[in-house]
Amino acid sequence: MYYAQPIARLIDELTKLPGIGPKTAQRLAFHLLFQPREEVQALAESMMVAREKVKYCSVCQNLTDKDPCAICSASGRDRSLICVVEEPRDVVALERTRDYKGLYHVLQGAISPMEGIGPDDLKLRELLARLGDGQVREVILATNPNIEGEATAMYMARLLKPMGLRVTRLARGLPVGGDLEYADEVTLSKALEGRREI
Ligand SMILES: [Zn+2]
Repeated sequence: MYYAQPIARLIDELTKLPGIGPKTAQRLAFHLLFQPREEVQALAESMMVAREKVKYCSVCQNLTDKDPCAICSASGRDRSLICVVEEPRDVVALERTRDYKGLYHVLQGAISPMEGIGPDDLKLRELLARLGDGQVREVILATNPNIEGEATAMYMARLLKPMGLRVTRLARGLPVGGDLEYADEVTLSKALEGRREI
């Protein structure tokens, strides 16, 4: 036992976070020990409140604290356009471009036989339900430019094309094998602008 039990427990909990190894956990723990009480309280409370209040939007499946989310309920958005992405952080990346004015749909993942993730594990049924009202004219497939993302886009194209919708894919030029969230705004803007029908 190197540490007093409360310190050991804190390090143990921090180590469970993604990207935090034992060394970083130790540094964070000792940092927290000597912070003002209010600051530590604010951190702990922000984690609890986020955990309690944030839910999936019942329309687009993005993370939100009100339902429908701010994007789904905004009046200025083009409701004939849905951009399909894998994760909530991809919505953030596309919103940063300030060019896209349509709606989103978050799949919560991508098809990956290696990880045992099939179409039924994604929010595809929720997407199909949104396409039934005749308002949507185009679906932009903005899944990541890697094997899983491409497989997911191909699967969706086969599913959506027979519905008489325009189905497009982001233009090449995004770093292959990378994630949307790591692309800079200009690259993402260009990829959106140059999207092509599939
Ligand atoms: Zn929404």
